[in-house]
Amino acid sequence: MSIIDRAKSLVGGGGDDSFRYQCTSCMEIFESEEAHMGKVACPQCGDRNVRDFA
Ligand SMILES: [Zn+2]
Repeated sequence: MSIIDRAKSLVGGGGDDSFRYQCTSCMEIFESEEAHMGKVACPQCGDRNVRDFA
């Protein structure tokens, strides 16, 4: 892979790699690139009780 392709994948990135979650404490809906729910914390209140939001 050329360095240009790498730069494109870093900057352009389709957005398909993000997952949507909802905080069960404050009901904030947010997106994260983290696929493992256990590692995701709510950006609003910091709570780790989040669920998949389809
Ligand atoms: Zn929250």
